[in-house]
Amino acid sequence: MKTQPQRNNSLPIHLPHLFISLRSLTLLLLASCFLLPASCLLPPPIAHAAHAIPIASYTISVTLDPAARTLSAHEVVTYTNTTADPIPDLVFHLYLNAFRDPNSLFLREGGAASRGYRWDPEHPGWIQVTGIRLADGTPLTLEEIEDGTLARAALPAPVAPGETIEVALDFRAQLPLVFARTGYAGDFFMVGQWFPKLGVWQEGAWNAYPYHANSEFYADFGTYDVRITLPAGYVTGGTGLPVSTVDNGDGTQTVSYHAEDVIDFAWTASPNFQEAARQVDGVEVLYLYLPEHDWTAERALDAAETAVRRYGRWYGPYPYARLTVVDVPDEGEGAGGMEYPTLVTAGALSLFGLGQGLPRARMERSIELVVIHEIGHQWWQSMVAFNEAEEPWLDEGFTDYSTLRVMEEVYGADTSVLDAGNLHVGYLDIRRMEYLTTPRVPMYGRAWDFGMIDYGVAAYSKPALALRTLERTLGEETMLDVMGTFFRRYQFGHPTTDDFRAVAEEVSSQDLAWFFDGLVYGDGVVNYTVTGVGTHEVTVARQGAPSTGSGQALVVPTEVLVTFADGSTVLEPWDGTEAEVTLSYPDRPPVRSAEVDAARKVLVDLRWADNGLTRPLEVSPWLALVTRLLYDLQNVLLVAGGL
Ligand SMILES: [Zn+2]
Repeated sequence: MKTQPQRNNSLPIHLPHLFISLRSLTLLLLASCFLLPASCLLPPPIAHAAHAIPIASYTISVTLDPAARTLSAHEVVTYTNTTADPIPDLVFHLYLNAFRDPNSLFLREGGAASRGYRWDPEHPGWIQVTGIRLADGTPLTLEEIEDGTLARAALPAPVAPGETIEVALDFRAQLPLVFARTGYAGDFFMVGQWFPKLGVWQEGAWNAYPYHANSEFYADFGTYDVRITLPAGYVTGGTGLPVSTVDNGDGTQTVSYHAEDVIDFAWTASPNFQEAARQVDGVEVLYLYLPEHDWTAERALDAAETAVRRYGRWYGPYPYARLTVVDVPDEGEGAGGMEYPTLVTAGALSLFGLGQGLPRARMERSIELVVIHEIGHQWWQSMVAFNEAEEPWLDEGFTDYSTLRVMEEVYGADTSVLDAGNLHVGYLDIRRMEYLTTPRVPMYGRAWDFGMIDYGVAAYSKPALALRTLERTLGEETMLDVMGTFFRRYQFGHPTTDDFRAVAEEVSSQDLAWFFDGLVYGDGVVNYTVTGVGTHEVTVARQGAPSTGSGQALVVPTEVLVTFADGSTVLEPWDGTEAEVTLSYPDRPPVRSAEVDAARKVLVDLRWADNGLTRPLEVSPWLALVTRLLYDLQNVLLVAGGL
């Protein structure tokens, strides 16, 4: 839904895996620059009114002490039981306690590091609820669960189906030195995962996990009214829209934000923020940036415009009035690349350490990549709100696949990440390289089921490749129909992998077991190859390894291109079911060559180098030798010339 226009909002993005890749890629970056037009003229998407059922709504008054880096706040949660169960208690997330001491689950699992940044024990984070009571004043008791990132309050009487209750809490919080997306760096504040927040009641229980290192979040939709009191002179950004700013006359101001149809509220503040804004199809895209990163303003806005237009056209219009993109300081990079409703964080990515002091050229598209990825989460997380803890492949995978589509469409398939003279890198190349290093992981799984490396492949690389493979198999139009239908059906809902499967099979009218059983749930791998080319026959094979759990081979439908001596061709569909197939062409000219998946639709194929085979020419031995020598000589000359 809409809120009124306001000053700062940013969308969170967070691409731990992407960042690692880009970091290594930086090593390739040098000199040269040229511009690529980032924006394009697309018709605006058709607007439609859509609203969430508010289940968990929050009214919070918070005061920031910028010197102590603390928050003190009063919060009122209004919760409506839309289920058929009486609910006996309330379970809150207290995320900041993940940074309280090294024994937290988050710090133990992550080795006190997150996305390449270290947790600083001298500057921890924590949250303490100092009071909790019902609207009628009845005091409640809140007890921490496990490592203190969850807490439970028993209720004197269950919340009946259809009933709405109000609970008031007072809390204090210490913000950490920027770590794992939240905290402070100097006088920059990125305040995320900062307030006591209800889990999701479903299937007779609270769906709420302690804060795991790889895990993101899960919450019901609701309305947020947040009043932030902080020093006058600070520029703020937040989810939704600012509705008022009051000068308190004591050196502080109170900025009030209102947001509807959202699952979270995050905010940022700095006295140094500069603002740049652009209207995109009726949405105000606001970029809050630091003066030292002024060179990013146009690029970030171009990328945001590109993303909002394309996702809006492909999936459904962005229904909020403002989208805020937040730049983060170099010393607070751990807050960059994260998504929140109507607000994302980006960053100038000094992670390209080499970039410091070099002219920032558009030959590398790290800024664009992060902005486009994080904005993708507006559709695949903020509006279609997956359970990120239980099924992280959905939000990261759908977002990364969407990112890949935008990057290729706007910046070129081979040059979408790096375009420096003869040095080209496409986003697909990076994702495929990552997948090939660790291909034997399923996409499906809870965030903490995976080690750090496997998590990156499971949630980002493999889904991007698999969804692109699905797109190339179904055809682009059908795939967009699948994604668009899924988005519209589940906007402001909590769909699962099964829901996506139902939509994909319904819209495509196909049994997609190869995708879901093979790629989503399975860890099998496939390598298609041509094993023999005779005069009138071709033998192709499906190699690889079956899925560990089911023992089922990974079978991806593909095709075989056969070329004959007269230059004619046939393209044979091959469902891959048989591990080896021989195709015969007794009535055609001799076969010259054969290639499986010549169009490179199967992006999870382990090796493309063996996909084709050309029949050896029948020439005399001495002619073959001379040809070979000439070939070698030519290569030597080419290499020498190149140097
Ligand atoms: Zn992401």
